[in-house]
Amino acid sequence: MITSIVYLRAEQISDLFESKLNQHLIIQGEAFSMDQNTVFHAFTASPKSSPAGIKVNCRFYLYPSDVEMVAAANNFNYFKLNSDEALIIFLSVSNNVLKHKCFLKLNGSISECEIKFIPGKLELYSRSKGLLEVESISKKSVGIVGLGSGGSPIAVELAKAGIGNFTLIDFDRLELSNVSRHVCGVNDLGRFKTYAVRDLIWQKNPYANVITSEIDVNVNMQECANVLSKVDIIICASDNDRSRFFLNELALKFKIPAIFGRAITRAIGGDVLRVRPFKGPCYNCLYSQNVRSAGGDDEEISQEKQAKKLLPDYTNEQDLQTVIQVGLASDIAPISNFMVKLALVELSKGENTGIKSLEEDLISDFYIWANRREKVYESWSKLEFNFNKPSILRWYGARVERDPNCMVCGI
Ligand SMILES: [Zn+2]
Repeated sequence: MITSIVYLRAEQISDLFESKLNQHLIIQGEAFSMDQNTVFHAFTASPKSSPAGIKVNCRFYLYPSDVEMVAAANNFNYFKLNSDEALIIFLSVSNNVLKHKCFLKLNGSISECEIKFIPGKLELYSRSKGLLEVESISKKSVGIVGLGSGGSPIAVELAKAGIGNFTLIDFDRLELSNVSRHVCGVNDLGRFKTYAVRDLIWQKNPYANVITSEIDVNVNMQECANVLSKVDIIICASDNDRSRFFLNELALKFKIPAIFGRAITRAIGGDVLRVRPFKGPCYNCLYSQNVRSAGGDDEEISQEKQAKKLLPDYTNEQDLQTVIQVGLASDIAPISNFMVKLALVELSKGENTGIKSLEEDLISDFYIWANRREKVYESWSKLEFNFNKPSILRWYGARVERDPNCMVCGI
């Protein structure tokens, strides 16, 4: 029979002993069983987001000496426990050394388990050291507006990089039609995207501070301004121009850099704009509101309600579905990924990290990506063995200047 492994959060255990040193204590914990009781995750207090698995009874016994702890574990009457399935964890700290024993009671038999600790804050991201300054990146805060197929992977990637503070804004709930392109799955259906993505962030970085705001930025503008006023960078991954113009104005007002990214028509390609307030072009310099509304829109239509807005009321369901121009998640991924890189470079600016050379590469503020030779990219050369001509699946930096007459950032 294989030994079951029980994972504990190192910081939870050390917090416990810090406050309750030299005491005998019984704590009702929470544990989740996975893979036919071969793996457990146990908590001394409810986790911020529950892991998968089946909840089982779990109790922690704390002792001030290891001799006492071992004796208690050996003499414990497991059969007196009410439940048939339970994890009993014995812990002691003496002379600053933590000792532990853990037993699983399951269908009338008792077996000893192995305990493993999930390390604390700094250790978790120490592997990124050298490439990113873990300590400093963990203090940065990122505001992400729009948690659809573009914004949700950005949030998760930034959590993986060790960003410690997030503000997530989206008023949508996860629908079945989103699942194939979203980082969240069917278990999150019906949930606010903000909450579902927050839980994924905590899976990667349990110490991240995550503020969520379920507001429509086009309606609750003041609240949006309030929650974004203190972030270090704004990531705009919303699916409509109105919100982009508004976030551009906010970025300039608060002098916060912003990254705008979007996919166009069925994700045949996309573009990314970095706005460094008053140091480079802003969103309005590039797409002044007048030009945009006169020239129509090549925006990707990814949601039913977006399509409904554009089409007459009598449009039937079938026609509606054909208008929804979804790309594949793999078509959107390069754009999200590039936004993550730009954000990390922006947040690590001036620090001597492994990604410093990227600062020299990414001097353009505007980038173009093409996924397929269709529509605007139709005349591009085939990728084949071609180095010199514009072709698909490559990034192109384009020179764009500030517009001195810009209504938003002009002088
Ligand atoms: Zn401007």
